[in-house]
Parts: sequence; C-alpha cells; structure tokens
Amino acid sequence: MIATSFEFYPPKTDEQRKQLDRTAGRLKSATPDYVSVTFGAGGSTLSHTPETIERLQGHHALEAAPHISCMGGSREEIRAQLQRYMGMGARRLVTLRGDLPSGMASPGDLRYASELVEFIRDETGDHFRIEVAAYPEMHPQARDAHADLKHFIGKAKAGADGAITQYFYNADAYFRFVDDVRAAGVDIPIVPGIMPISNFSQLRRFSEMCGAEIPRWVTQRMLAYGDDAASVRAFGTDVVAQLCQRLIDGGAPGMHFYTLNLARPTLAVLARLG
Ligand code: FAD
Repeated sequence: MIATSFEFYPPKTDEQRKQLDRTAGRLKSATPDYVSVTFGAGGSTLSHTPETIERLQGHHALEAAPHISCMGGSREEIRAQLQRYMGMGARRLVTLRGDLPSGMASPGDLRYASELVEFIRDETGDHFRIEVAAYPEMHPQARDAHADLKHFIGKAKAGADGAITQYFYNADAYFRFVDDVRAAGVDIPIVPGIMPISNFSQLRRFSEMCGAEIPRWVTQRMLAYGDDAASVRAFGTDVVAQLCQRLIDGGAPGMHFYTLNLARPTLAVLARLG
C-alpha cells in the first residue's frame, strides 16, 4: 500500500474545530503515516498550530507534524517553537521559509528554508525528521528553474530527510524534477503533493498564487460544467486519481494530500486507487 500523509490547516473557531475533528476521524480510516498542520503567515495562527498538533496527537492518536517557518521570526522565537514541539513529542517538521505578509517589514533572522534546516539541525540534532518543499513547476519567485533546483538541492544538503512537492497536475514535471535531483546526487524521497479538486474556482485562485499549472483541457471541461457541482467533483476525482496512478506506477514514494480540512475529496481519490 502506498504511504500517505494528510495536510490540515489549524482551525480558529469552534465550528472549524468540529469540522477538523470529523475530517481527522474519517481520514484516520485511510491509515496515514502522519498528518501535518500548516502555520499562518506572519504568526497569525502561530498558537493555533501547536494546539491543533496536540489535538491530533492526543484525541485522534495520529502522528502530527507541524509546519514551521523562518519568515518574520528571530532565532530565539524559532528556538522556543522547537522546544515546544519537542516537549509535545513531535518527531517530524515540515520546514519552510514561508512568505512575507504584506505590511510586514522584516523577513526575520534566517532568509531561506535551507538556513532554517541548518538551524534546526544545530539546535536539535537528529530529533526531527525534516521535510522541505519542492516545486516541480518552479517556485514563483525563483530567478529561473535551474536556480530553483540548485536551491532545492541546498536544502537537502543542509540536512532535510525528505521533500513534499507543491501540487501539480502534470506528472511529467514531477518525474523530470526527480530525475534532475537524482542527477545531482541527492536521493531523499520526494513525495508528490496532491490537491484533490472539489471547488474549481477556488483551485484556480490558489493556483495563480502558487504557480501551479492547471492543464487547459481540465480548465475547459471544468468551465463547461459550470454550477454542476456533482460533475465537477466526479471529473476532478477522475483527473486526480489518474494522476496519482501515474505517479505510483512511475515510482513516487508516497502521496501527501492537501485536504483543506475536508475528508470526502481525498477519500474519493483513495477509493479509486483501491
Ligand atoms: P525556500 O526553499 O527558501 O525558497 C524560496 C525562494 O527562494 C525560491 O524561489 C528559491 O529558489 C529561492 N532561494 C532559496 N535559497 C536561495 C538562496 N540561497 N539564494 C537566492 N534564492 C534562494 N506557506 C505557509 O505560509 N504556511 C504553510 O504551512 C506552508 N506549507 C507548505 C507546505 C508545502 C509542502 C509547500 C510546497 C509549501 C508550503 N507553504 C506554506 C508555501 C511556502 O511557504 C512558500 O512557497 C514560500 O514562498 C517558499 O517556501 P520554501 O520553504 O520553499 O522557501
């Protein structure tokens, strides 16, 4: 069976907390290796991330990995977060630079995720398994694809154990990226990030921001479905399940699902994969 992990965002309201409890309960049946919890840019959900980690570990008995970022934070603040997560028994971190929220002046003591990986290794040794981000279709701020690949390799050399990709719908971009990383002598597992499709207009907005390309033929079909939500969901499940199957057949080491705190779209894809 293929290894899976599920990403959640930290709920802020009681209603959102109940929803995450329902979602985590349902997704647990798919026996994920671990789940992860994002952080909000600029510290807005800083306290919600640890709370959510505690809830997923304590109430749901899931291994939960916090996302951690260096954007806007001092070494001292990051050290305190690491201590807190160690105290909670976390053994895995998704380690990111993050983005500078508009209005925030200072990027923080560490500039790039590679520096954060080094800092975590210096502070905590091998306590954490460290996952970093990878961009098969290039990070939107990168100077060019070669520079981005070089920077990714820098994160692996700084001590990352594995990577999770930004979502994509073009399997060739993933395979090419993995080949390039292997050609550079780096062999850490690179797990595809999978975004199930349920709300197409929301997906288009996200994709514009993060630089993920939605193939034209998918967009055209989705636009033709208009408000027919059932058809959008059915076609979205088809497209994503076929993508996952290709990735599995091509040797992807696992699947990391961006759940958006919903169980059904992810479970629909997993059901199709058997
Ligand atoms: P980096 O690896 O530091 O790269 C950022 C940019 O800088 C790239 O363009 C890179 O090419 C360039 N770069 C790197 N090193 C150098 C160097 N030495 N010199 C010059 N340029 C360099 N965002 C959130 O706000 N919260 C989350 O929880 C979150 N979770 C995520 C989970 C995953 C799996 C992924 C893929 C993304 C996530 N993001 C999250 C988004 C992420 O924070 C942004 O994509 C951010 O812009 C880049 O983070 P990074 O860790 O990839 O940065």
